[in-house]
Amino acid sequence: MDKLLLLKSMISTRQAESMSIENRNSLCDKRLRKLVRYAKTNSPYYRELYKDIYRDFDLEDLPTTNKLQMMKRFDDFITDQKVNMRRIEEFTSDINNIGYMIDNKYLVFKTSGSTGNPAVVLYDNKMISVSSAVAAIRTFARKEDYKTFMNNGRRTAGVFADYGFYLACGMSKYLQIQMPKNNNKINIDVNLPAEQIIRQLNDFKPSMLSGYPSNLALLADFVQLDIKPDVVITGGELLTDRTKKKLENKFGCYVQTHYSCTEAGEIACQCREGRLHINEDWVIVEPVDKNNKPVGYGIRSDKVLITNLSNYIQPFIRYELTDRVIVHDEKCSCGKNTRWLEIEGRTDDIIEFRNGVKIAPMSFYKILEEIKEISRFQLVQRSDEVLELRIISTDRQNAFAKAEKDLADFLLSKGVDNVKIKLSEEAPQANKTSGKFKHILTDCQTQTKIVS
Ligand SMILES: [Zn+2]
Repeated sequence: MDKLLLLKSMISTRQAESMSIENRNSLCDKRLRKLVRYAKTNSPYYRELYKDIYRDFDLEDLPTTNKLQMMKRFDDFITDQKVNMRRIEEFTSDINNIGYMIDNKYLVFKTSGSTGNPAVVLYDNKMISVSSAVAAIRTFARKEDYKTFMNNGRRTAGVFADYGFYLACGMSKYLQIQMPKNNNKINIDVNLPAEQIIRQLNDFKPSMLSGYPSNLALLADFVQLDIKPDVVITGGELLTDRTKKKLENKFGCYVQTHYSCTEAGEIACQCREGRLHINEDWVIVEPVDKNNKPVGYGIRSDKVLITNLSNYIQPFIRYELTDRVIVHDEKCSCGKNTRWLEIEGRTDDIIEFRNGVKIAPMSFYKILEEIKEISRFQLVQRSDEVLELRIISTDRQNAFAKAEKDLADFLLSKGVDNVKIKLSEEAPQANKTSGKFKHILTDCQTQTKIVS
């Protein structure tokens, strides 16, 4: 860890907390121009993409990019030509390299590929410092939770995918290697049997518990889990109101979330009003429609373009994310002057039917959430004509009958009348490799047993 760089990032991130909107905008603009200049000089991909971009440009003049283009031309995309995909593949084929830097310069991460193929993302020292600074300064929504956490020895337990080059795992291994004497942090593999996770959590007694909301909600069902964290911080998936309440009831503490991704780092952090404020000093967020045209405040976007102002080895400039968000510019009563956003079911899929009707996952989610007999659910599209419902319920038949009727009525109202809804024998389950959970997804490849 470059300590000087970390200190500088901490200072500038702290300063941005009290900046006027004008000053922050001008800081952001300066950072953007520096990054674009660097990308154009050092990345053959950007040199070509920006061939018509000169000194005086507006953000909107810059052509957009996406995962497909980036992965197709990975070696040209990054700004250090000594590193390439062949060497990265060799490096990541050895899991002992997790948490270590390639060439002692860059951390290597892979995304879980919940929307298609995984992306490979390198972090340079600046990106690591800025991520750490933003996390240290802005993670806690409430000052009082931060104080209790500090007073209780900063004991942190994370339940994440703990075996791959994923961000949470890789970063936590990196910090362990940097600070081997720190024994106040553990990472538990989300894919271990629940009993083992619970035993480790009970023994460790964390002050801060973090993990995917869907998985923490599952663990919360176990009476054996007996911990009293000071705060629960979820990530990686949408934290729904239902899960938030459930976790608050179980742990008796404040439950919050944040919005991040491997490519952009920390995009938004929660305030005490529960709003996700964009880290506008380090990330530019543009909500856009499906043609990458801007959508206004208060309007739901189809995608987001992100510009990560702190990563120079792999510049993400106007890079498409498939998240759907609503950005707000109304003043928040917490006192922060940054814009804030709402995210729709992050990892869930849009379900498309043969007649071209597309349905947002949130619509299905809302219907199923209303059925009180269902304690957990997952809806899987198996084909154009088959939706499979996985549920946990003490009254399965009755719960399914209600769900089937409500879903069929809803689909009919959307002009979809040829879909069969089937009850699955299987329980709702997370993706086997990433450990992340989708409530609503399309999976037309694997078949499972269906009872009705
Ligand atoms: Zn706020």
